Amino acid sequence: MKTTMKALNLHAIDDLRLDTLPVPEPGEDEVLVKIAYCGVCGSDIPRVYSKGTYHFPTVIGHEFSGVVEYDPKGELTGKRVAVFPLLPCFECDSCKEERYALCSNYDYYGSRRDGAMAEYLAVKRFNLLMLPDDVSLAAGAMCEPSAVACHATKKLGDVSGKTVLISGAGPIGILAAMFCRHRGARKVYFFDLDDAKIRAAEKLGFYEYTDDISVDCVVEGTGAGPALVRCLKALKPFGKIVLMGNPSRGIELTQADYWLILRKELQVFGTWNSSYGERENDWREAIDAMGKGIITPEVLITHKFSLEDYREAFELMRDRKDFYQKVMLEVK
Ligand SMILES: [Zn+2]
Ligand SMILES: [Zn+2]
Repeated sequence: MKTTMKALNLHAIDDLRLDTLPVPEPGEDEVLVKIAYCGVCGSDIPRVYSKGTYHFPTVIGHEFSGVVEYDPKGELTGKRVAVFPLLPCFECDSCKEERYALCSNYDYYGSRRDGAMAEYLAVKRFNLLMLPDDVSLAAGAMCEPSAVACHATKKLGDVSGKTVLISGAGPIGILAAMFCRHRGARKVYFFDLDDAKIRAAEKLGFYEYTDDISVDCVVEGTGAGPALVRCLKALKPFGKIVLMGNPSRGIELTQADYWLILRKELQVFGTWNSSYGERENDWREAIDAMGKGIITPEVLITHKFSLEDYREAFELMRDRKDFYQKVMLEVK
C-alpha cells in the first residue's frame, strides 16, 4: 500500500499547494477511503482566497465520494461510499435530538480538519453512506447539494399540481426543481441574473420566470434582497416560501414589500443544511432519489479536473471564466 499521497493543502489565504503528505492511518472508528471525486463547493472559493480555514495548513474538500481502501474491521473494504462531512459532538442539545446540522461544537472535513481534495482520507464510520450499484461515484460526490435541496423542498409540503418558482439556478436550485417535479409540481420556474443558467434549466425541462406569473410556492436560493422581493411579489395569497439562500449582508424590506407577507398571509419557512439522523436523513433520501432517477446530479457537472490541474478549477470559479454549474476534481 502507498505511504504517501497528493493533497491540496491550504497553507495560508491564497496559498493552496499540491503537497505530498503521508497517507492517513484510520483509527478504530474509521476507514481509509480512496477518493474518487471531490466537488469544488462555492464555499471553497472564499475559503481559499479570502477567509481561510480554522487553522493552517488544512487539506480542503468536503463534497466527495470514493471506495473504501482499507477497513481495520474488514467489513467495508471495497465498498463505494459518499460521506457526510460534518462530525457532530454527540453531546450538545441539538446532537441529542439528531439535529447534527445545528451542533454547537462540530468538526468538519475540509474546513476544520483535513478533507478530501487528496488521494485518501480516513473517515469516521458514522459519516459513511453506502452507494448502491446504480448510483455513480460522480453523483455520490453531489450528495451534499442534493441533500440540501431535499431538505429545503420538503418544507413546501405537498406540491402536487402546484406551480413553483426557484430563485437562483445553480446546482442546489436545479436539484430542488427535480425534487419538486418528482413530487408532482405542475411547472417549475426559475429566475437568475445569469442567463446561461436559465438556458441550462430550460434544457432540463424547467421554465424561465417572468413577472406576470403568480406561483403557489417559492424556494429562495440566493439570499439577495431584490430576489427576495421578486419572490414575495410572485406568490399567490397563502403561498409558501422557503428561505434557503445564505445572505452576504443585511436585507431590508420596504413597508410595501413587507405588507406582501401580511396581506397575502404568506407562509415563510427557513431551511438550514440537511438532516442526517435515524428518523430523518436527507442524505439517504437523496441517494435513494439518485438510484431511482428522480434527481440526476451528474448532468450538473460541467467541468472535471485532475488534482494537478486544481488552479484551473479554482480560477474558473473565482474569475467566472466560463459558464459552470458543478466543477469536480477527479482523483486518480
Ligand atoms: Zn459544500
Ligand atoms: Zn453537538
